[in-house]
Amino acid sequence: MRIPFVAGNWKMNTTLNEGIKLVAEMRPGIESTQNIEVALCPPFISLTVIHNLLSGSKIKLGAQNLFYEEKGAFTGEISPMMLAGLCEYVILGHSERRQYFGETSEIVSRKVNSAIKAGLKPILCIGENLTEFEAGKTEEIVTGQLLKSLAGVDPSPGLVIAYEPVWAIGTGKAATGERANEVISLIRQTITGLYDKNFAYGLRILYGGSVTGDNIAEFVGQAEIDGALVGGASLKTDQFISIVRKTAQLKNQ
Ligand code: PEP
Repeated sequence: MRIPFVAGNWKMNTTLNEGIKLVAEMRPGIESTQNIEVALCPPFISLTVIHNLLSGSKIKLGAQNLFYEEKGAFTGEISPMMLAGLCEYVILGHSERRQYFGETSEIVSRKVNSAIKAGLKPILCIGENLTEFEAGKTEEIVTGQLLKSLAGVDPSPGLVIAYEPVWAIGTGKAATGERANEVISLIRQTITGLYDKNFAYGLRILYGGSVTGDNIAEFVGQAEIDGALVGGASLKTDQFISIVRKTAQLKNQ
């Protein structure tokens, strides 16, 4: 039995005060929903304050990135150890990091490894871009990214994978639930080959890409999809609560 999971990726949005306000608005709706795990992933600068705000809450906290080294002369970077006391989750390999900051799957695998070593749970993002999608290369790209991003990574019970077709992120053009389910099923098969069936069966795999309160049911109504990684709609209280509620309802019936 996989516990459904919804994570909100705030990206480079919200000042500290805006983040505090957003948490206060969302908190009652999220906390009153049963049988689901929810994580909020605000910008680094808000983590400490939101961590304190959420003390005693069942809402989890996640970071959006980290650097794989423990400490040292890496100006501007944040280490796994710095996050370990604050966050439970960390988003790694997001397509925006791959696209704008040159993150390769080799770099992502180092990040995944060091996150796990620090006791963090990685939300590993993979997905094909529009050109690859149109060329019918989705399976090849997704499998390749998955295997490279997990190279040398031991199976860790906290690992979460998010299938995020790049062409669906922030565009309003979501994949179909059926197609996302097929790709996620392939991801689970690939994980079975890499580790074993038990691990693959217990692993939570999310869909991400233009998820809203209106289309979430199409995704979490699918057997292989365990929840969602939500960008834009995670900044809108009503939308995010609707996503959380519908996910809990559909996954627990
Ligand atoms: C994301 O950033 O991971 C994402 C899925 O964004 P959006 O929901 O805005 O498409």
